Amino acid sequence: MPSLVVRAFLVFFAAEYLVETALLLLNLRRAARSGGQVPPPLAGLVEAEAAARSRAYTLANGRLALVSGAFSAVFTLAVLLSGLLPALDRALAARGLGGAHRFVAFLALVAILFSLFGLPFSLYRTFVIEARFGFNRTTFRLWLADHLKGLLVSAALGLPLLYAVYGFMALTGRGWWLWLAGFLTAVQVLMVWLWPAFVAPLFNRFAPLPEGPLKERLEALAEAARFRTRGLFVMDASRRSGHGNAYFTGFFRPRIVLFDTLVERMTVPEAAAVLAHEIGHYQRRHVHKRLALGVLGQLVTLWVLSLLVPWPPLYRAFGFAAPSYQVALALFAIGGGAFTFFLAPLASWLSRRHEYEADRYSAALVPEPGALASALTKLNAENLANLDPHPWYSAWHYSHPTLVERLRALGAPRPGAGLATDAVDRL
Ligand SMILES: [Zn+2]
Repeated sequence: MPSLVVRAFLVFFAAEYLVETALLLLNLRRAARSGGQVPPPLAGLVEAEAAARSRAYTLANGRLALVSGAFSAVFTLAVLLSGLLPALDRALAARGLGGAHRFVAFLALVAILFSLFGLPFSLYRTFVIEARFGFNRTTFRLWLADHLKGLLVSAALGLPLLYAVYGFMALTGRGWWLWLAGFLTAVQVLMVWLWPAFVAPLFNRFAPLPEGPLKERLEALAEAARFRTRGLFVMDASRRSGHGNAYFTGFFRPRIVLFDTLVERMTVPEAAAVLAHEIGHYQRRHVHKRLALGVLGQLVTLWVLSLLVPWPPLYRAFGFAAPSYQVALALFAIGGGAFTFFLAPLASWLSRRHEYEADRYSAALVPEPGALASALTKLNAENLANLDPHPWYSAWHYSHPTLVERLRALGAPRPGAGLATDAVDRL
């Protein structure tokens, strides 16, 4: 008879799996039944071919998510319940590892185990699905180099971080979770500064946006919005993928990064509308609110973890002889999601509210009517975004409102108002 702890975990784990799978199936069925028709509110804005391809892309990704979800559920349960983790901890102890070294080795090996498990799915997605729809531009060599660099960066940053985490847990007394939360917040702020300067250039090239009408327009826009930036850059995203996007890095004077794929396909007013949307996220303090919420979430998470660390039934339930920091952290990381997954719709809802606000900001700042609507339509159509997701699925998962919802909020555009139909990912 499994312990009460294991039974409670299994109930939550099963609930998570059932809800996720049911939402996915609803969404897939809706896409399958649509027959690839353009949804009526988008008639005249999106070409029939784009709608058909978007449906096929939604189905291919959804089917992969069903398969990977099932495998991942079985894998997670196997790791947690097979006795593998206690055996790993004993093996490390038998090699004479104790204290900080055992903590770091145990957690690093668990992390490697899970990332190895994810590799075949990532390969399939990149080289089968993305390739079939013409998005993939990476070669196997580049993919492998990316993963090796990613592994080195994770080791260079992650291993010292794990030693530090152990230090806080083991050496700062009962209030360790508070100290650790403060430390992790400081690290995150530091990374916001370090990442664009030292890590991102390992993977991509960043060139200043060339002189010309686009640069003039975007600089004028930033000035009109009283938005101080560290400059406009173009990233060679097209080396790997055909998806278009734009993002900011930094808190106070961010640099603006535009994907080359975006620069190529947008008209000047459309690019201005996209940038104005991003500036809206800053000027409406969404970035700062999200950071504050993240810090708060981290604090609560660490507090809960601090309650679990000295709780013997947790360890017994999963086959461990004695409490230890590394085991508490691993169990928490692997199994904790089952207890928090129902918060996802709340986070999605908040994020969508911010998107609407940023859209309004953009529409007020860019004088050309319909520039944002046209940019969003291009981005959705080009990225083969699902044009008509199941409302429960999008309510649960979507960090951005659907194209139809955003166009409606912007004031319904006239059908065929001179929109090119061949043109984000998530703005
Ligand atoms: Zn946005």
